[in-house]
Amino acid sequence: MKSIVINKSHNTLKCGICRSNITRNELIYQSKVLYIPVCQNCINRFTKDDVELMLNLFIAYGGYFGQFDSSQFSILNYLKNLKESGLKIQNTEALNISLLYQSILHGISPQEYLEELAEFVI
Ligand SMILES: [Zn+2]
Repeated sequence: MKSIVINKSHNTLKCGICRSNITRNELIYQSKVLYIPVCQNCINRFTKDDVELMLNLFIAYGGYFGQFDSSQFSILNYLKNLKESGLKIQNTEALNISLLYQSILHGISPQEYLEELAEFVI
């Protein structure tokens, strides 16, 4: 993981994962491909692969980690609402991406998502 140090003159940087301001001198992660800074809290909380995955999802679909209240969200309810909406998901991969994306928008990390999903299949 490549890290760089920023100084106080760059006080408008926002974390690409949680959108918190990066205002003090701190190590930040920056993807070689995406050029989006990630704060120290997110670096400590998520794996490099999860950071890259979330940055890609936020670039493709917008939003940020924890954008919405997690107290009303569950995978099961999301699936029920999806079924009731009549929206057709084309394949398993598209459904998985949709579920993961909704989970991280509600502050559920990719690792927590996998653990919650495992409850349905194990
Ligand atoms: Zn962050």
